[in-house]
Amino acid sequence: MIPFLDLNKQYLIIKKEIDKAIQTVIDKGEFIGGEFVSLFEEQFASYQQVDFCIGVGNGTDALEIAIEALNLPHGSEIIVPANTFIASAEAVTRAGHRIVFCDCDADNFTISIQSIREKITQKTRAILVVHLYGHACDMDAIHALSEENNLKIIEDCAQAHGAEYKQQRVGGLGHIGTFSFYPGKNLGAYGDAGAIVTNDKHLAKRCRMIANHGRLDKYEHRFEGRNSRLDSLQAAILSVKLTYLDDWIQTRIGIADCYFEKLSNIPEIILPRCEPWATHVYHLFVIRLNDRTALFNFLKEQQIGVSIHYPIALPKLEAFHYLKQFDENFQAHHMDETLLSLPIGEHMNNNQVEIVVSAIKEYLAEAHN
Ligand SMILES: *Cc1c(COP(=O)(O)O)cnc(C)c1O
Repeated sequence: MIPFLDLNKQYLIIKKEIDKAIQTVIDKGEFIGGEFVSLFEEQFASYQQVDFCIGVGNGTDALEIAIEALNLPHGSEIIVPANTFIASAEAVTRAGHRIVFCDCDADNFTISIQSIREKITQKTRAILVVHLYGHACDMDAIHALSEENNLKIIEDCAQAHGAEYKQQRVGGLGHIGTFSFYPGKNLGAYGDAGAIVTNDKHLAKRCRMIANHGRLDKYEHRFEGRNSRLDSLQAAILSVKLTYLDDWIQTRIGIADCYFEKLSNIPEIILPRCEPWATHVYHLFVIRLNDRTALFNFLKEQQIGVSIHYPIALPKLEAFHYLKQFDENFQAHHMDETLLSLPIGEHMNNNQVEIVVSAIKEYLAEAHN
């Protein structure tokens, strides 16, 4: 049995440190705000090579608050890729703006530069890029479009802790970046948690105020905000886990290399493309094939954890029917039937990769007969 994710196995390796961190927070009785949260914010800012980090409740809040902090005119158009988790798009509407979906590159899975170009109008004010599966978007091209058209760049880094574009960590490459520490992410809390990062002092201050009822000091509310907090227990857990992140990413890269090597000569399978600019952190290892659902079911029967990210491109979701943005020409609208996420993570070893590969080969051999 090879699970898709094994958080318990991970916990057992770092149990002593985690238990101690949790006990320390409880002993101090400092559950909200304070030193544990500030310490993790500093550590994570340094890890992502940015000046500011603001801990918030989760990755979806991070996106909503980041977009709100940009202070764009109400009803601005924000370009969002069609293949991502719903949160990337939802946040645009929640912040009072209009989603404009654009297509994705079928090989590296990130936002298509050509498609962004086609979607820019007089009302476009921002591009929300998603470093999907742990692979950085083509940031030089996105910067060029941003400068030409005066657009803000929001980076959704929920799947890309530690990922790099030309040797620079994601998050500080645009105007503002957001992270999720949902338990299953490469850096995950033991519950909900998220963060916003930026190199812009004013944006950082605004985000902190929005997330804290529009205030900096106790009762000095400057505007109506909301409550979205990274709590001390999660912060202390994340501080421990951050010290392991680079090792865990290396394990993921090793497993990905193994998949690349062993699946490269199978004509039915299209492997993900890692662009020369990207240091991929392989939050997900996503292959494409025509008979996806049959292979998915076969692997499940063999107790191999597989998943699909994402089975329905966003414009086709019921939630977004009102936008009437289904575009037959999007590759994303055909790609979604072919995507398959293979198990990857620090819980796996190369022997288990072999088992996954053998099972895939067995399935394909049977399918041919
Ligand atoms: C997980 C995820 C989010 C949302 O994060 P939560 O912490 O679950 O709110 C946003 N965007 C992407 C791309 C994600 O994968």
